[in-house]
Amino acid sequence: MASQAAIIPSLAKGSKQLRACLLCSLIQHPLDFRKHGCPNCEELMQMKNSGDRVTACTTTYYDGVIAVIDPEKSWVAKWQRTSKYVRGIYAIRVRGRIPEDVEHELENRGIRYRPRDQMDQD
Ligand SMILES: [Zn+2]
Repeated sequence: MASQAAIIPSLAKGSKQLRACLLCSLIQHPLDFRKHGCPNCEELMQMKNSGDRVTACTTTYYDGVIAVIDPEKSWVAKWQRTSKYVRGIYAIRVRGRIPEDVEHELENRGIRYRPRDQMDQD
């Protein structure tokens, strides 16, 4: 995976107004989450046009930032039909849990939620 990720120092520190999706770790400006939802998991998170959902489904508490250039394999693939992350900026670690309704929806799909607050060992 190392060849597919590049550390972006300018984003690694500061930029705390940006928020990371609790489910896939994608980092965006909160207004983008609100306008467009999360491009990876909007189907589950339903953040579009809801500031409350953005607050519940994303967090400013994340560590490390990587650019995912060619995201083929990830656990997101387990629920996405496309089996791909969108290209973008992702947090390495995210603190917090997804809302219960999203967790239930994942369970309904036979997917066990894996909190993102630990180093990703994939
Ligand atoms: Zn997401």
